[in-house]
Amino acid sequence: MDERSSNLSRIPSIDEILKTATAAAAIDRFGRPSVVAAIRRSVESARKAVVAGSATPCGVEAVARSAVARLEADAKLNARPVFNLTGTVLHTNLGRAVLAEAAIEAATAAMRQALALEFDLKQGKRGERDSLVRDLLCELTGAEDATVVNNNAAAVLLALNTLAKGKDAVVSRGELIEIGGAFRMPEIMSRAGARLVEVGTTNRTHEKDYAAALGPKTGLILKVHTSNYRIEGFTKAVSARAIVALAKPHNVPLLNDLGSGTLVDLARYGLVHEQTVSEAVAEGADLVTFSGDKLLGGPQAGFIVGRRDLIARLNKNPMKRALRIDKIRLAAIEATLRLYRDPDRLAQRLPTLRLLARGKPEIEAAARRVLPAVGQAIGSRFVAALTACASQIGSGALPQETIQSAGIAMRVAGTRGSGRALNALVTAFRDLPVPVIGRVEDDAFVLDFRCLEDEAAFIDNLKSLQCEESA
Ligand SMILES: *Cc1c(COP(=O)(O)O)cnc(C)c1O
Repeated sequence: MDERSSNLSRIPSIDEILKTATAAAAIDRFGRPSVVAAIRRSVESARKAVVAGSATPCGVEAVARSAVARLEADAKLNARPVFNLTGTVLHTNLGRAVLAEAAIEAATAAMRQALALEFDLKQGKRGERDSLVRDLLCELTGAEDATVVNNNAAAVLLALNTLAKGKDAVVSRGELIEIGGAFRMPEIMSRAGARLVEVGTTNRTHEKDYAAALGPKTGLILKVHTSNYRIEGFTKAVSARAIVALAKPHNVPLLNDLGSGTLVDLARYGLVHEQTVSEAVAEGADLVTFSGDKLLGGPQAGFIVGRRDLIARLNKNPMKRALRIDKIRLAAIEATLRLYRDPDRLAQRLPTLRLLARGKPEIEAAARRVLPAVGQAIGSRFVAALTACASQIGSGALPQETIQSAGIAMRVAGTRGSGRALNALVTAFRDLPVPVIGRVEDDAFVLDFRCLEDEAAFIDNLKSLQCEESA
């Protein structure tokens, strides 16, 4: 007990530690209140260790350094860039689309300076924020009018609330989807104040099902792109064109939620054709909704394009104000949409398309170049080898379609304790200055190289890899 209390009295005081050069330098970097708080925590944990008998008191300098380590760990941004080597190009948990340089420049300028956001520069009077992108959206989709909100979920909510509040919203049972998280079509409908009228069955819906549901209380018919699953076998769905033909005489609009929504024919870039927004507009849908940060390759946003009179009603809904988009994203959207005017160079300039269109040989060559550095970094406990991968678009777009890719698979050498060793490896990659996120498959940690463009930065980052020795 005596020894313990004498040990306790030898723990340096906060004031003593604050006088060290280490603390002075830390105050310059982090500010005095943070440094004092960190030192207090380090002193406290030193005291606890002594009380527990697990340590003897350490010197002034050691406590100061432990406080600085705390501050440094805490100074890392929570919103940290990562290497997305999952093979899923539009990974919702990793922020979906990576933006084009033109979009980044436009967003940066919008952050740095005042912006003609709701100001008509020709007339010198108040303008509308949507007008920054309205003409471009109409040009690229063939629609009469357009508006933009926070995301596609908001676009669907706004359209339902505006056109079907207190009315029936008719939808096929095969399209009552859950996108993920809290976005389930039936719940969105009830929040929008619309009454859900389900027609058809899970696998088959006919024109006569829609026809029977149409009546004076019908606010709209909703068609939802079943983007994240597919029903196969004995199936039937009614085309948008046929629904429009049925609904027009009743003056009931069709809202077509495309989900991902692409503005170009993906087949042009060697991918599977996905209905474009222009095609959906040309089919006669009164309104079409789609995302900004899925296949379109821009920032998070939701677009609604279609009939001018309906868009005008959406814009008058007070909800529009609550769902509106900020100037930074609006600037990035405008710059992204402008890239679509030059389809020949789109795949070069738009990262989403560039990454999706990358051919397997090119990706494999990159993996081959990086392999020696990976092998060296992971040490002799593990082996690394080239492997074939199957990339995905992600965000629910064409989930059945995989794109041939290549990467590196890391395995534990030998089998003893391999599960724990592999986990330690996955964690070590996640702990890198730029965390590397891959996939665990068949007892291997796999990095799909489709989304790796900066090989030098990747190799440089590997220098900090620290694989735990014990397993
Ligand atoms: C992704 C998706 C949504 C939601 O879009 P967000 O932009 O993520 O809000 C809605 N409907 C469909 C069909 C989707 O695929």
